[in-house]
Amino acid sequence: MDYKAAFRNALDQVHSEGRYRVFADLKRYRGEFPKARWTRPDGSQTDVVVWCSNDYLGQGQNPIVTQAMHQAIDEAGSGSGGTRNISGTTCYHVALEKELADLHGKEAALLFTSGYVANEAALSTLTKILPGLIIFSDELNHASMIAGIRNGRCEYKVFRHNDLEHLEALLRDAPADAPKLVAFESVYSMDGDISDIAGTIALAKKYGALTYLDEVHAVGLYGRQGGGVAERDGVMDQIDIIEGTLGKAFGVMGGYIAADADIVDAIRSFASGFIFTTSLPPALSAGAAASVRWLREHNEVRVRHQERAATLKRRFAEAGLPVMPSVSHIVPVLVGDPVHCKMISDMLLADFGVYVQPINYPTVPRGTERLRFTPTPFHTDEMMDHLVGALDKLWSRCNVKRLGGYAA
Ligand code: PMP
Repeated sequence: MDYKAAFRNALDQVHSEGRYRVFADLKRYRGEFPKARWTRPDGSQTDVVVWCSNDYLGQGQNPIVTQAMHQAIDEAGSGSGGTRNISGTTCYHVALEKELADLHGKEAALLFTSGYVANEAALSTLTKILPGLIIFSDELNHASMIAGIRNGRCEYKVFRHNDLEHLEALLRDAPADAPKLVAFESVYSMDGDISDIAGTIALAKKYGALTYLDEVHAVGLYGRQGGGVAERDGVMDQIDIIEGTLGKAFGVMGGYIAADADIVDAIRSFASGFIFTTSLPPALSAGAAASVRWLREHNEVRVRHQERAATLKRRFAEAGLPVMPSVSHIVPVLVGDPVHCKMISDMLLADFGVYVQPINYPTVPRGTERLRFTPTPFHTDEMMDHLVGALDKLWSRCNVKRLGGYAA
């Protein structure tokens, strides 16, 4: 085997499909969010505005959060020192789990080192607890949910995205006495659409299924206290397992599930992704707890965030830019071609000081390549003026389709 050639071929393939990923080297300075300094490949530096951060509310810069982290480092040092079972459970982990359970109105919560691990570990473990489990999974579920479902080696059925009729047909076909679970998301992060949570719960109840809801792009952002879309829709108590991240709106890192005490205890007892890995550092747990607590009390941040997203959508539409019909804080603009998408993203960064990553296949289907903007409460009207002007110029320069069709 020519190993060198095999690696080269794999890389050539992603290059030729226009989806070779290059990471921008950014340095951030406290107090300047959402600005950052980008180091160009030649070593020179340029100020840029970051338009694609998943630190949706800028909580990573909130002094309440960073002070809690500093304090925990001073009190407890850096790492956690072990798995949760072997000396890695501290008062910070315990307090954070209590805070998260409380946020979602559940009896208990369980921390993982990321949202990805939470999904993979929880979903792959449920089969061990519920032999014969059939999982019904939305076709656009995140890679971490798919990994968990596949690794659990249970039977699974994929229903068309947000299609409750299709879900019902699949539930109806399944043996009535088999244990079942419907796994879905609230906010889908690439299109910005939101699922019908109440409708999904009603179907799950009708066919005796549990519900598993990924609120990764909604926790901290929706609901009176930031409990997610299920809180906003008044159905949080009817979802069996809520999964979330601490790495996006809460501005830190880590993942979790929240559910009835027995469900959490069983997953805690069987999930490899929980048991066999070093737990989160105390400082991350302390920072996340401070962030959750602060956001529960500051609904005005969520209101401002939604206003910023609505304003950006309106500004794009007024400029004839093909903004996709998102009903959330996510603002995707369709390019429809991987090479153009990458080119526009590169030119935005190099020529206009605008940082937004291209979203290409396999993250989204071919032909729907896009730029995905995530305005935060800290993006100003002036930043929007600059962004819209830059996109307008590049759309003309590259002759990309506008809302009403191609320019003459
Ligand atoms: N679920 C969804 C829907 C996601 O988009 C992501 C990450 N982008 C995750 C889970 C994983 O979360 P984390 O980044 O905390 O690992």
